[in-house]
Amino acid sequence: MNSDSSLLHELSWTDIERLDKKTTVFLFPVGSTEQHGPQNPLGTDFLIAEHVARKSAELVENAYCLPTLPVGVAPHHRNFPGTLWTSRSTFETLVKDVIHSIHYHGFEKVIVVNGHGGNSSSVLNAITDYNDIHDMVCSMFEWWRDSEIISSVFNVPSAIHADVVETSTVWAIRPDLAKEERLAGLTSADVWGRLIGSLYIPSRADQITETGIAGTLEGISIDKGNQALEKIIKKLVKAIEDLSSYSK
Ligand SMILES: [Zn+2]
Repeated sequence: MNSDSSLLHELSWTDIERLDKKTTVFLFPVGSTEQHGPQNPLGTDFLIAEHVARKSAELVENAYCLPTLPVGVAPHHRNFPGTLWTSRSTFETLVKDVIHSIHYHGFEKVIVVNGHGGNSSSVLNAITDYNDIHDMVCSMFEWWRDSEIISSVFNVPSAIHADVVETSTVWAIRPDLAKEERLAGLTSADVWGRLIGSLYIPSRADQITETGIAGTLEGISIDKGNQALEKIIKKLVKAIEDLSSYSK
């Protein structure tokens, strides 16, 4: 547990100057502001990533959380009002520039805590470059890809979009934003994309789903969301500890 804040923006430059360059791990939450069905806030992806990153940073002495990047690669959601997006190249550049800043101050360990699938390839490109060219040890943590946690808590093989997994999880973090009364009658797609025979076609959200939802809505529960968050934070804490003690 940090005696001071574990949020970088609440510390001063002299606090950061005192940190150990080799063992400090920075968590960088990134997400998206995009439609998540009528029942969830547009900020679902960044709210979950930020919560998981901040709670984990509080639990590890040499972990610090950077400010959240709340807009991501989401042009495929653009026909749903309120969705914001950056281009793939802009997002990748933003992630690289933030990692570059950390590298410039002499640190070498960053975990990008990503809450949105559309960001994955850009984050991987950014961290691969910095690990390769600048000899950093950066990684990416994506909570919803943990099939062991998803299947054990929610009884589904994987999370899709604004489904039982994401809805329960964001409601657990922000019950004040849960719109349970809107769930009745909502339709949902089975797959995130179109299938032509066996061929998978990546598609805009509105080509797949009228409501913006894909995956089952059966069994949504704040209790399950809390169970998942506890397991996810435990995994991230272990990942931070492993990275902190790793020496090149
Ligand atoms: Zn999402």
